[in-house]
Amino acid sequence: MSPPAALETIDITRLKGVGPRAAERLARLGLATLEDVLFHLPFRYEDRTRITPIGSLRPEQGVVIEGEVMAADVVFGKRRSLLCKVADGTGLVALRFYHFSAAQKNALEKGRRIRVYGEPRPGAAGLEFYHPEYQSGPDIPPLEKALTPVYPTTEGVSQKLLRNLAAQGLQWLQTHAPEELIPRQLLDQSGLPGLAQALTKLHHPQPDDPVDLLLDGNHPAVKRLVMEEMVAHQLGMLAKRAGQKALSAPVLSGEALTGKLLQALPFQLTGAQQRVIGEIRADLARQHPMLRLIQGDVGSGKTLVAAAAALVAIESGYQVALMAPTELLAEQHLANFRHWLAPLGIEVHWLAGSVGAKARRETLAALAEGRGALVVGTHALFQDAVVFHRLGLIIIDEQHRFGVQQRLALREKGRFGNQVPHQLTLTATPIPRTLAMSVYGDLDTSVIDEMPPGRKPIQTLALPTSRRDDVVARIRAACQEGTQAYWVCTLIEESDELQAQAAEATFETLQDALPELTVELVHGRMKAKEKAERMARFSSGEAQLLVATTVIEVGVDVPNATLMVMENAERLGLAQLHQLRGRVGRGGEQSYCLLLYQTPLSFTAKKRLAVMRDTSDGFVIAEEDLKLRGPGEWLGTRQTGDLAFRIADLVRDEALMAPAREVASALLAQYPDRVERLLRRWLRGGEHFADV
Ligand code: ADP
Ligand code: MG
Repeated sequence: MSPPAALETIDITRLKGVGPRAAERLARLGLATLEDVLFHLPFRYEDRTRITPIGSLRPEQGVVIEGEVMAADVVFGKRRSLLCKVADGTGLVALRFYHFSAAQKNALEKGRRIRVYGEPRPGAAGLEFYHPEYQSGPDIPPLEKALTPVYPTTEGVSQKLLRNLAAQGLQWLQTHAPEELIPRQLLDQSGLPGLAQALTKLHHPQPDDPVDLLLDGNHPAVKRLVMEEMVAHQLGMLAKRAGQKALSAPVLSGEALTGKLLQALPFQLTGAQQRVIGEIRADLARQHPMLRLIQGDVGSGKTLVAAAAALVAIESGYQVALMAPTELLAEQHLANFRHWLAPLGIEVHWLAGSVGAKARRETLAALAEGRGALVVGTHALFQDAVVFHRLGLIIIDEQHRFGVQQRLALREKGRFGNQVPHQLTLTATPIPRTLAMSVYGDLDTSVIDEMPPGRKPIQTLALPTSRRDDVVARIRAACQEGTQAYWVCTLIEESDELQAQAAEATFETLQDALPELTVELVHGRMKAKEKAERMARFSSGEAQLLVATTVIEVGVDVPNATLMVMENAERLGLAQLHQLRGRVGRGGEQSYCLLLYQTPLSFTAKKRLAVMRDTSDGFVIAEEDLKLRGPGEWLGTRQTGDLAFRIADLVRDEALMAPAREVASALLAQYPDRVERLLRRWLRGGEHFADV
């Protein structure tokens, strides 16, 4: 046996059958090396290892038949076709070709032996094979010994070529042991097969192998590759972390300002808030940049934790920037910070699209000169004109709504050579435990897993829209008791315009139905200023009922609101339902959430509504969401671009996550030379981890 050679160094053009044109087409499939060929896996298999008697054919079952051509005639039905009859002594079946050449017709002459691969379907002449693959003539090769792989492909690349290349790849593996990028001793405990064995099984399973397991990813051969992919991802994150460690950050400490803030509060911090503030303080006191994610359910008090962090930086003479994805959310933070920090003599600056030229100039000057210690804002913060004197801490709310580039741009504003600001991220989108390690493996995370005392869990009911009148009566009753209510219109349509129209229609109906109440309306088509004014009328209690689109998903904090009605709740995902529901239950009163749905409900919709009724724990809801929708969708909607696995499935393969982590650290310590290659094999340089 030859010594191992690196699979990725063997160019695909060295394989038989690959000329320059084929190479070009294969490149479109991402296949450039022998390694690529071997890791291009089948998505199904055909059984060409045995012949099925024609007499026992059933429609739409992939089979091989062999027999004698009885006749081959051009027939004129709706379309001209070549109809060829084949018999094997147990029955007769037809092959039909709509496109055929004269040579083809001649080759299918009466009396020839023919072997056909395909799926018969009911047709004019009984069961028919349409355009099947076939071999005819005196020299039909022996039957396959293994199952036949079917590969994902692209125009101009035939299954035949892909099969041929894979076969050459496997052949190569038999004569050259592939170098295991994960050394055997690190895998021994897992009981998973070696790479060559796993790849052979996946490309050429035996007829009695459990194909279901291979296809649904529950076979050890698949797990072996999943393991490698997960190890590669972990290594990617470790590498990012190492890069981070090479950077420095200002050492921030000081307790005086935070102490003053806490003393002035009318309540005590929860244990969870204290713990998390402690974790942040420890990070800030180090000379490496903090990269910490705070996860906390809506209402758990993240903003206060952020304020405590900001005060540490300010006390050390550094500036702080707090960035939120929408103006509404940013304004909420602005209001909170002004309320808390004004008594300490700290001015809070404001930067958003709606800020006028004069105020904007003043804020920019204050930040550049260092007079402005704290700025709250939106995307406006990372524009070129914004320059900081000494930016020491960046706080980002709901970071998944920002792109990596935007976040980096903000960090660069605080860079001095090798020194960058600390970064704190807040999210109310609970990351299921299953995903956290993958999505945020490169961040330190803190969880605020305790609600401020006195909060009563929200009671949730699901009602069909036919009970709308009862719902209106409940709103009347709630508002007569002096509390307030939300009515959320949730059109799924992308268009703001349609959403706004639907909200206006609902607004008018509700105004008519509840003449004794002051009803207010907000939607995404309004100018920021108008929206803010209307919101203010609701916050102050002047309006009792707020009709809104999902613009109120984040950032609205009216503790006196105790009733939330959501229309078309069956169309929303769990994450969004949970976010919206979090607008109530923020004060001491018992709050209610009414989910109005249209019948009939789909199975998933029923489950979702049941989850909402049964729990208010954001983490439980996130786990359920993941189960119902799968990680692809979950990531697609909430974490766009953060993570994409080729083979691993985070829900299915959860059990491998922890072992993969261990293997990754062992590999980094003992075999650093393999790391680079594993990363290249699996990530192809295109990965985006949560943040750096
Ligand atoms: P989050 O941002 O996590 O959704 P907030 O920080 O907006 O939550 O806090 C929600 C409300 O609870 C705010 O009105 C805040 O002042 C209040 N709050 C925060 N911490 C506490 C606490 N420990 N006890 C009582 N109320 C608190
Ligand atoms: Mg908040």
